[in-house]
Amino acid sequence: MASYSSHSSILSPSHQPHHPTKFLPFKVTCTTTTTSNQQTTLPQTTKKSALNFSAKYVPFNSISTNTPTDESYSLDEIIYRSNSGGLLDVQHDLEALKQYDGKYWKSLFDSRVGKTTWPYGSGVWSKKEWVLPEIDDDDIISAFEGNSNLFWAERFGKKFLGMNDLWVKHCGISHTGSFKDLGMTVLVSQVNRLRKLKRPLVGVGCASTGDTSAALSAYCAAADIPSIVFLPANKISMAQLVQPIANGAFVISIDTDFDGCMKLIREVTSELPIYLANSLNSLRLEGQKTAAIEILQQFDWEVPDWVIIPGGNLGNIYAFYKGFKMCQEMGLVDRIPRLVCAQAANANPLYMYYKSGWTNFQPVKANTTFASAIQIGDPVSIDRAVYALKNSNGIVEEATEEELMDATALADSTGMFICPHTGVALTALMKLRNNGVIAPTERTVVVSTAHGLKFTQSKIEYHSKEIKDMACQFANPPVEVKAEFGSVMCVLNNYLKSKS
Ligand SMILES: *Cc1c(COP(=O)(O)O)cnc(C)c1O
Repeated sequence: MASYSSHSSILSPSHQPHHPTKFLPFKVTCTTTTTSNQQTTLPQTTKKSALNFSAKYVPFNSISTNTPTDESYSLDEIIYRSNSGGLLDVQHDLEALKQYDGKYWKSLFDSRVGKTTWPYGSGVWSKKEWVLPEIDDDDIISAFEGNSNLFWAERFGKKFLGMNDLWVKHCGISHTGSFKDLGMTVLVSQVNRLRKLKRPLVGVGCASTGDTSAALSAYCAAADIPSIVFLPANKISMAQLVQPIANGAFVISIDTDFDGCMKLIREVTSELPIYLANSLNSLRLEGQKTAAIEILQQFDWEVPDWVIIPGGNLGNIYAFYKGFKMCQEMGLVDRIPRLVCAQAANANPLYMYYKSGWTNFQPVKANTTFASAIQIGDPVSIDRAVYALKNSNGIVEEATEEELMDATALADSTGMFICPHTGVALTALMKLRNNGVIAPTERTVVVSTAHGLKFTQSKIEYHSKEIKDMACQFANPPVEVKAEFGSVMCVLNNYLKSKS
């Protein structure tokens, strides 16, 4: 044991006892002082927090226009907008973080991956110092989200795009089946802290196209905090609707679209002690940004050339930018990838804005799309998205319903099982490959944002060719056969002939 203390660096491998994961309760509280084993990781971390790592809210436009401001707020305040009504952003004290070099941070983050040590085994909280540096570990509500599979899409890349270095970051293989878990663990943890600080918060509310409400309800249920969700009636999938219901949220189904729900919840939360959990809330982006850091980490801190992200309310395109940029500023990497935001053609205000050369932004009335989580016509984070794209030499693409469903079917045919939003991102990739913008050898990451199992209805409709005005050219419907040896042999022989 003594040998551990002789190299008691936080960077040395953890000698934590390993608890079998299946017995791991939702929340584990670690004792930090008992054995010398644990000193190889934890006390130093505590010391780091004491080194005044901190973060605060500042107006987003002070960042985007690079103008210093006196306006800032503690993260313990309940505030969503700046004085002038603009967006806020969480700003970290980078000078404090820079007391440690890039090598240090890489090793620290790498040393925490996949451990059971509360809360660092989470892909989000393994970057705690860069997320919410001041929160107590005991106040964190986590489902050990993140650490999602960065999948080498070998067959899809080679077969359809002539690419050998294509990757799909499966963020949707997650606690509630979408990447919204990454941000929600941060928001609900902070709300948990605020309630302990006796701030007047009775519950947390959101308007949602489905995934946000699922994540909010799950994390609130784990924390025993009431959650209230506003959902557009008949516009989300059954799987998404059942999640908040099962997790005990107060579900209000409203006969409007997402933009209508968003407007209502903003009015309601200004009157009632309900904390607003929409991505207007910049806390969530701090969790979402860890997916970008994680991508770099999974490539051993090599920077991919392109990252493609489906966008609706547009917080995430900025969150990814922010994660990459922070790694560059802190010296973990020396550049950032070019970002592509992919929109459904039926809800494409950012695409139209981009096409106008950023001269004319017009909210649109979002039409129905299979990519229902991005069916948003008036994105709250439009300014964040434009900033992210301009500073990453970014591109915006769009996908029609037929394109996104075909791309989804093609991806599934190579062994994936992706959601329609990922189909939007893959369509963008196919277009940019076909017009030569993305070269065959360039390392490209497509961010898959939700689990395909949340969107089985759209797949069923596609494969049974039930979609109006769509050829469904890659449909693979089941063959109906009589319960009779001859008939079964006949269809099988035909099938085998087609394969040989
Ligand atoms: C929320 C969400 C998005 C888009 O994120 P924005 O920040 O709203 O642009 C994409 N896909 C899925 C599945 C989502 O839930």
